[in-house]
Parts: sequence; structure tokens; C-alpha cells
Amino acid sequence: MTDLDGHTYVDFVGEFSAGLYGHSDPVIRQAIIDALDGGTVLAGPNQYEARFAQALKLRFPSMELLRFCNSGTEANIFALLTAQYVTKRRKIMVFEGAYHGGTMVFPAGGNPLNLPFDFILATYNDCDESTRLIRENQTDLAAVIVEPILGAAGNLPGRDEFFATLRRETQSAGSLLIFDEVKTSRCGASGMQGRFGITPDMTTLGKYLGGGLPGGAFGGRADIMEHYNPYKPGSLRHAGTFNNNVCTMAAGLAGLTNVFTPQRADAFHDESEKLRLELQALTDARSVPLSFEGLGSLFTLHLGGTPLLHAADVTPLSRQVGLLFHMHGLLNGIAIAGRGDFYQSLPMTQAHRDKAKAVFASFVSEYGDMISRLAEQNSTTRRTMAI
Ligand code: PMP
Repeated sequence: MTDLDGHTYVDFVGEFSAGLYGHSDPVIRQAIIDALDGGTVLAGPNQYEARFAQALKLRFPSMELLRFCNSGTEANIFALLTAQYVTKRRKIMVFEGAYHGGTMVFPAGGNPLNLPFDFILATYNDCDESTRLIRENQTDLAAVIVEPILGAAGNLPGRDEFFATLRRETQSAGSLLIFDEVKTSRCGASGMQGRFGITPDMTTLGKYLGGGLPGGAFGGRADIMEHYNPYKPGSLRHAGTFNNNVCTMAAGLAGLTNVFTPQRADAFHDESEKLRLELQALTDARSVPLSFEGLGSLFTLHLGGTPLLHAADVTPLSRQVGLLFHMHGLLNGIAIAGRGDFYQSLPMTQAHRDKAKAVFASFVSEYGDMISRLAEQNSTTRRTMAI
């Protein structure tokens, strides 16, 4: 990536994960050109969408039937409304620090622009509290929606037992479990649901889904999604002018079937996770208290020294360290997000990852002592807050 002043960077911002395929993948580029040649804005179903849906269903078996829309936000809105419709219940359980779209954000202090769903706020990774809240709200709980990795809060990974608890408790409460895999579906061939071996009732996708063009999808158990079957009397409507737009469908299909194949997805996840572990080893070897939270191609630099399980564990000071590395990176030829997030992309080579390691090593040398002092201050603040 080269800026207007001629500085060149390795792009670890990766459009916050939407840039999985990089800036100009030749296969996707060609697919878009071919699609343009065939004509756009034609109305009605096109030749790409059923094949794309079929390919997604093979990858994410929880999506027995699915529908396309224009964004991750839209996918989540439809998933939640669908859950309310099929369960005939109102409440939606979400987790502090979650991000499910521009109108469904759950930072500390709330978001005045959230949609007026009847949300119940729970603590990420807290099995006991989730169990209690699901049981207490059982008669009116339509769904629990959860990100397998809590992205906007700093890519905090959900624990296996947390998801096993959510699966068990939602099942016995008759509520739907919705996995928001808008970001995490890139974590291997079948996303995080494949890694956990858990089948949610519904799944939502977005970000890289359209090969870099706008797009989203929601789907799930056939008995749930059958309500959208237009041939059935009284079926649900899901209209949207550009839901199946030709360019997104063509680019997404080409990307999923010819670039981000199951083999490539697994290999990419492993290569990316190796970088995360190597960066962690680098900081551990120099006893600098930093941690790289996340998994594979999605991770965030935090102040270390204390376990980070849920959003409240991430202090503003921890976020400042991410910002500091963002600045240091820009001065040294790598771009990460201002909040300390790293997103890797398919075109990355070992040379790009080596560059990130070298820049991080220089960061640790330059700021290691200061970071140790910040970590001490951070844990004192946390102890005081706890008291
Ligand atoms: N869910 C998650 C987990 C996300 O990270 C995002 C986007 N950051 C969304 C939903 C919303 O997607 P979009 O921006 O396409 O509306």
C-alpha cells in the first residue's frame, strides 16, 4: 500500500478483515469483469447466487438454507427478527463489547443509536452468568447472538466451554443460538463453528464474503429458513434491491471456490496463527508484558500480565499500547489498525510477516521499559477498580 506522499506499507489493517483477498486478486478481478460483460441490474435471480449459496452451505453446514443481503448489519438484523418470529419471543441476549453492526454495538456505556430490540447484556466467556440469564429469561428469550471471537473489544477469543454452555442452555430453553461469523468465518475452512464442532441454529456472514464488494448472508436450520420459502402461503418476505447483485455474487463465488478454498483457508489460518505465536514469543523472550489476543489472521496487541476474558478486562491503557504500535508501524512500513488490530490477508508472504516481526522487535527494544511500567500501572488501576 503506498500513500500519497510515497510511503509504502504492508497492509495489516486489511479493511478490518473484509480485505481477506487483498487489494486486487486476479481471480476476483476477472470474475467481476466477466460479470460486468454479462450485464448488471437485470432483476430476478442470476446465474451466480444459487451456486454461491451451495458453496457456502458446503463450507458452513449449519446454513442449511441461506439468504443474501448487503451487509453484516443487515444479516444480523434479519437473523434476530427471524428468531423472534419463529420462537414468538422478544428478548435477545448479547455480550458486553460485542459488535453486530452499526446499529447493534455494545461498548461500556451503551450506544444511543442501537436498534430498539429488547437486549439482555451478559458477560463474554462467563458460563455461570450466561446459564443463569438464559434460564431466568427462558420464557421470553428468542435468541443468543455471539461472536466466536469478540472482535471490536480486541479480538478476545471465546472459550470452548463458553460455547458448549451456550449451545446446551439455548437448546434446553428453546432459544436460538446465532453465531455472528461475519469476521471469524475466515478462521479455517468452516470458520469457528468448525473449530468448536458446534452447530448454531443460525449463522451470519459478511466482510470478505463478497470478495471485497458489499455483501452479507444469513441462514440456518432448514425448518427456520423455510419460513422464507416464497412458494408457501404466508411466507416471510425478505426483499432488497441489491441482495443478489451480480458483481457481489460473482466475486464472492469466485473467491470462495477458486481462491479461499477449504485447503487454502486451513493453510492460511495456520500461517497466520504462526505469526501471532511468533510475535508473542518475541515479546515473551524479552519479558515485555504484551499479549497478542485472537486467533489466526485476526488478532490484537494488548498490554499483558493479566488474563483478558471479557470486554471489561481491556483497559483504556491497553488500547493506548495498540495505538502506540500503530504509530510506530506507520513510521516503519507496516500499517495496523489504530486500536491495535492486525488482519492478515491471502496475498501475504513470509517476507511481509518477517517485516512485521522486525518492526515489532524494534518496538519492543524502543518501548519495552516504558511498557513494563504501563503494565504495572495498568494492574494497579485494575486492582483499585476491583476494590
Ligand atoms: N458483525 C461483526 C462481528 C462485525 O465485525 C461487523 C463489522 N465490523 C458486522 C457484524 C457488521 O457488518 P457490516 O459492516 O457489513 O454491516
